[in-house]
Amino acid sequence: HAKSLGRGAVSLFDPKMDDQAQARMELERDLRTALATGALELHYQPLLELSEGAVTGMEALVRWRHPRKGMISPAAFIPVAEETGIILQLGEWVLNQACRDAAGWPSDVSVAVNVSAVQLRHRSFAQSVLLALASSGLRPERLELEITESVLLDDTEIILETLHLLRRMGIRIAMDDFGTGYSSLSYLRRFPFDKIKIDQSFVRNAAGEGGAIIRALVGLGATLGITTLVEGIETEEQLATVRAEGAQEAQGFLFSPPKPAHEVLDLFRKERTSAAA
Ligand code: C2E
Ligand code: MG
Ligand code: MG
Ligand code: MG
Repeated sequence: HAKSLGRGAVSLFDPKMDDQAQARMELERDLRTALATGALELHYQPLLELSEGAVTGMEALVRWRHPRKGMISPAAFIPVAEETGIILQLGEWVLNQACRDAAGWPSDVSVAVNVSAVQLRHRSFAQSVLLALASSGLRPERLELEITESVLLDDTEIILETLHLLRRMGIRIAMDDFGTGYSSLSYLRRFPFDKIKIDQSFVRNAAGEGGAIIRALVGLGATLGITTLVEGIETEEQLATVRAEGAQEAQGFLFSPPKPAHEVLDLFRKERTSAAA
C-alpha cells in the first residue's frame, strides 16, 4: 500500500527513516548555529619537508565544539554541510580564518586549506580566495588549496579555469588523498597540481605493496615536476620507508596531531624567542 504512494511517502511509514531525517535536520540546524556563534575552530597539523625536517606548512582541519556532544570531527558534518549548501559559508569562514592565523606565523610557513567540490564549482570562488588574502595580508605564495579527486568529476571546464586562475595568482594546488579514486592518473595530466598527497592507506602497508606504490608515485611526481607528500605517518618505521622511497614531504601523528590554533602560535613564538636568544 505504502509503495503505491511513491518513494517520498514510504518515509511516513518507516520510523527508522524518520529518525534519520530528524537527526540530519537537527545536525543542519545545529551547524548553522555553530557558524553563527563561533563554535567552529581550526586545528593545524604540520607538513614536514623531509631532507631538513623543517615545517613548511600547516594543514587547517576544522572542528566543531558542540555544546552537548563535545568535539565533532569533520567526517561527521562536512558531508551534511555539502548536501545542504552550508559548506559555502563554512568554507568561506575556514579560508578567512586560516589566512588570518597564518599571517601571524613565520613567513616561511604556508597554510593548506581543504576545499570542497561545492565551493570550487562556484564562479565566485577565486574572488573569495583573493578577498581572504587581501583582508589577512597573507601572500598568495603562502596559501595551498587541497582538493580531492572526487571534486574533479563534474564541471571540469569551470574547475580547470578556476585552478589556472588561482595558480596564476601564485597559490599552490595540492591533490588530496591521491590514489583512492578511479582516475588519479588521468587527472594528474589534465589538472595543474603542484603537489600530490599520497593517501594514508598506502603508508599503512608500507612494508608490503604500499611501499612499492609510494615509490612509483614518487617517481611519477618527479617526472612531472610535482612535489610528493605522504600522509598518515605514525611510526619511525613508516618514516624510514617513506624517506627511502624518496618522498619530499610527510605528515602524520608521528610528527604531531592537529593542534588548536593558539597552541600552534605559542610554539612558533617560543621558537622565535629561542632562536633570538
Ligand atoms: P584530509 O584533508 O585528508 O586530512 C587528513 C586527515 O587525516 C585529518 O583528519 C587528520 O587528523 C588525519 N591524520 C593526520 N595524520 C594522521 C595519522 O598519522 N594517522 C591517522 N590515522 N590520521 C591522521 P580529520 O581532521 O578528521 O579530517 C578528515 C577530513 O575532513 C579531511 O581529510 C578533509 O577531507 C575533511 N576536512 C577537514 N577540514 C575541512 C575543511 O575545513 N573543509 C573541507 N571541505 N573539508 C575538511
Ligand atoms: Mg587535506
Ligand atoms: Mg588527505
Ligand atoms: Mg582525507
